Amino acid sequence: MFRLDGRTALVTGASRGIGEGIARRLAEAGARVVAAARTTASLDSLVAELHDAGHEASALTLDVSRPESIAEALKTLPDDLLPVQILVNNAGITADNLLGRMDLDQWRSVLETNLTGSYALTRALMRGMLRSRWGRVINISSVVALMGNAGQVNYAASKAGLIGFSKSLAREIGSRNITVNVVAPGYVETAMTAAMTEEHKTRLVAEIVLGRLGTCDDIAAAVHFLASEDAGYVTGQVLNVSGGLYI
Ligand code: NDP
Repeated sequence: MFRLDGRTALVTGASRGIGEGIARRLAEAGARVVAAARTTASLDSLVAELHDAGHEASALTLDVSRPESIAEALKTLPDDLLPVQILVNNAGITADNLLGRMDLDQWRSVLETNLTGSYALTRALMRGMLRSRWGRVINISSVVALMGNAGQVNYAASKAGLIGFSKSLAREIGSRNITVNVVAPGYVETAMTAAMTEEHKTRLVAEIVLGRLGTCDDIAAAVHFLASEDAGYVTGQVLNVSGGLYI
């Protein structure tokens, strides 16, 4: 179902967690996957594993918080991987603090990685999608963009920014058969949430209608659908994958 053969998909933040899950899922669906992040060794082992399973994948070392480096990094992609027609902007960081204690670096680093990074990479890859008249941009936001979360004004602002970005871009490039959508995960078990205490997790789970934290596969399944031909009439949307944490 939802085959992606013949498409190249670039997934940022693919060195672990949700991005790794998305990269695996899209590769299994037949896409040529470019797994991007800063940690080359983790990307290489993912790519080796995908190759062993008979899938097409390559690694791209990329720091999305340095927009000036993106064009150079993309030049290293071989021609047979171009154009990139599926872009998943998943790389993200947190730097939590209450606003009164949040310094400008904490604010800027989160905005630069989560929001400006997505702007820069989308802009760089959009031309290829426009020329080929087919494209999927999928931005990974968060339910906290919609609900707010004390201690995360920077993160929530960056993730809400992605929603405005996506809805506007959807209007700009829809006529070229390019869709732009957002997946807003709830709490997913990854390194990002591993720091939570068991007590905090128990309190959180009590708020989730489906009674459990999400998995990387839960998020990857939503991205897979939005990347597919079958989602060709869906654009400018926010798909909450939060187990009902946000309804
Ligand atoms: P992790 O911290 O486990 O992974 C983050 C990924 O982003 C890593 O692969 C990391 O790779 C990459 N990354 C971070 N900074 C950069 C950068 N400057 N350039 C390139 N890559 C970068 O996070 P999750 O897997 O949990 O989260 C993935 C996305 O999902 C994030 O956008 C997050 O905000 C969002 N999300 C997560 C939720 C959760 O509960 N886990 C809930 C809602 C949203 P490396 O360090 O190698 O560069």
